[in-house]
Amino acid sequence: MKLILGLICAAACLAAEDFSCWIEPCSAQAALASGCQAGDPELAQWALQAWLRAARPALEFPGAAEDHARIRIYWASERTRLYGEAHPIMVDGKRGSAIYVNPNISQLGDEIYAAASRDHLLRDAIVYLTCLHESGHALGLSHTGKFEDIMYNFGYGGDIPEYFERYRRQLSGREDIRRHSGISAYDRQRLLDLFRVRPDAALR
Ligand SMILES: [Zn+2]
Repeated sequence: MKLILGLICAAACLAAEDFSCWIEPCSAQAALASGCQAGDPELAQWALQAWLRAARPALEFPGAAEDHARIRIYWASERTRLYGEAHPIMVDGKRGSAIYVNPNISQLGDEIYAAASRDHLLRDAIVYLTCLHESGHALGLSHTGKFEDIMYNFGYGGDIPEYFERYRRQLSGREDIRRHSGISAYDRQRLLDLFRVRPDAALR
């Protein structure tokens, strides 16, 4: 009996955490207001899928209407100070996040703007990595001080253009973004720890 209870507990502890999500379409109006591009919602979707693969089977991201989505991703150039932000919200009694991603590279400093203007795949990589970083916060991950991590805090300094370029160098085309998650081994371990040890501890 003790063994059976133990197995039931283990199964419960490993139950998938359900993060319903909604991604703002890049409508003509949104494009005008934020500088988003038609393919940006797909980049956001790939970012969520990357976390899903990294944490399998501990996470699920079913689609939901905006009002009921625990993770909402918006395109916003004026609301964000730089790349993106994640703000805590309450959604149907659970903690969630409203994520604002800045798709307007002209606001990311001269060096990044110049490089990403010449190279559209670099621009897409920056938007993808920003979605990945901010959705990492939405899942409950805090910053790290390790340059190789997606949860690295730019506040620690370092060569920020290189942070994006090293990811870009792995890509031959846009589809390659799906094959290169950008999630480091340490990011993944922290995510697994978060959900396996305390499955209800996300979004603190
Ligand atoms: Zn952050």
